[in-house]
Amino acid sequence: MTPDYDLAVIGGGPAGVAGALTGALAGLGVVLLDAAPRLGGQYFRRPAPGFRAARPGALHRGLDRFTRQCDDLAGRADVLTGHRVWAVGRDGGTVTVRCLAGDREERPRTVTARRLLIATGAHDRPLPFPGWDLPGVLTPGAAQALLKGDLVVAGRRVVVAGTGPFLLPVAAGLAAAGARVLGVHEAGGRGGLTRHPFLAAGKLAEAFGYGARLARHRVPYRGRQAVIEAHGGDALTHVTIADLDRDWRPVATRTVACDTLACGYGFVAQLDLPVQLGCALRADPYGDLAVTVDAGMRTSVPGVYAAGETTGVGGAVLAEAEGRIAGRAVAADLGRRVPPDPVLSRRRDRLAAFARALGEAYPVRPGWRGWLRDDTLICRCEEVPLSAVREAVELGATDARSVKSLSRAGMGWCQGRMCGYAVSRLAGGAAAGDSRDGGQARPGAGPAAFHRPIAQPVRLGDLAGMAAEAPPPGPPGAPAEAPRPPTEG
Ligand SMILES: Cc1cc2nc3c(=O)[nH]c(=O)nc-3n(C[C@H](O)[C@H](O)[C@H](O)COP(=O)(O)OP(=O)(O)OC[C@H]3O[C@@H](n4cnc5c(N)ncnc54)[C@H](O)[C@@H]3O)c2cc1C
Repeated sequence: MTPDYDLAVIGGGPAGVAGALTGALAGLGVVLLDAAPRLGGQYFRRPAPGFRAARPGALHRGLDRFTRQCDDLAGRADVLTGHRVWAVGRDGGTVTVRCLAGDREERPRTVTARRLLIATGAHDRPLPFPGWDLPGVLTPGAAQALLKGDLVVAGRRVVVAGTGPFLLPVAAGLAAAGARVLGVHEAGGRGGLTRHPFLAAGKLAEAFGYGARLARHRVPYRGRQAVIEAHGGDALTHVTIADLDRDWRPVATRTVACDTLACGYGFVAQLDLPVQLGCALRADPYGDLAVTVDAGMRTSVPGVYAAGETTGVGGAVLAEAEGRIAGRAVAADLGRRVPPDPVLSRRRDRLAAFARALGEAYPVRPGWRGWLRDDTLICRCEEVPLSAVREAVELGATDARSVKSLSRAGMGWCQGRMCGYAVSRLAGGAAAGDSRDGGQARPGAGPAAFHRPIAQPVRLGDLAGMAAEAPPPGPPGAPAEAPRPPTEG
């Protein structure tokens, strides 16, 4: 069977759009699929068509350039928004992408291509604490997504907590949008960015910019503090904030009344689809996993490329550079003449080094386990408390996958995206001793712990229908013209 396209790109953030556009400009037949109703990914998330922010672009630098890229891409490739990819496969030289298309009435659709670029980004990393399942508690990424994508301010009296530089734009954005931000509580200490000389060179000006905006709104920024408990009945009413020691053990506490808490500890690469294909992963020194790629963003699986935060968390600018490199590599591998671009490669290396340094400046310390009680829910979807996770470990579970089998932790709607980090640390850390967050040697038992044949919720009827699947008709919202055919190369 001749594949529908030369290149299928999954993910319409900075990495995916850059990769698809680069491939299309090189003459490839390209399709880009994204679950969201509009291109943009996390950084360039925009309101749905028909809604307009009061100050478009105020929350994203470089939006005009990205919009031009999207417009250019729309004229050169098939852009399928509202397409949730739930499975990818590879047979010989053809990759198969199975997705559900459409807003309300989703229909199954299958796309085939000669090459696949996975650019599915990252997701928030929350840590559990008593009360984190209360309405009003959300992640900083979710607060930012509400603001950027839905033009909704998450709450009136907001506490922002966790670790990492992302807390700053979230707090600044919420304050500028009218929320009363009661404080930013950085568990890692005030000087995260300044501690690393390399970082100081790269990000200090940006950090000072956010600092000035927070000062304008009288938002205090406190180091070595964390929210260790959220309180309320039907909704959040107040939080317990603790002063922490070096390892994040609480040394003193106080409570603060609020209706919203945005709390998160950085990001984790989204790996479902690369793991389905068997792409090799690498762990950084602290156990966070990402797809292994070569200098052309090729994964270990022939014909499959990865770019952006699936290859490691590093921000939108790095994601775009990697997308361009991947698009060029695909074109070259399909026989197009692509002159080397050493400047782009050096830029990627510089940005990737910066991202690594950023990760080192904001580690998760082991003391968070001391915030937990026996009845603290670790997996919110399946309501699995710490006691059940401990029981699983006592029964011999040594990783997230075996804890899941014994306790159901990670088996719910989010498929472990929210609790996976904590579960793997509680399992691995219990036996493996501590480095920075315990269990460094065994990051959730490696790729097997993440393997899911189905990456997105799918109706059983759709699954059953796959067996009798005919060549897919264009679903609602799909382009009217025939797929752009693969080209000879
Ligand atoms: C919730 C959240 C909010 C963030 N907000 C900011 C911010 O405001 N500022 C900032 O500097 N950084 C932010 N980041 C960091 C951000 O991830 C990067 O800076 C940048 O967006 C990464 O680009 P990317 O192209 O690698 O991935 P992304 O921009 O994340 O794009 C990935 C795309 O893949 C799509 N996708 C994922 N899985 C599937 C699937 N199975 N099927 C179809 N489509 C799929 C998603 O819909 C998304 O559009 C945020 C991260 C998260 C998780």
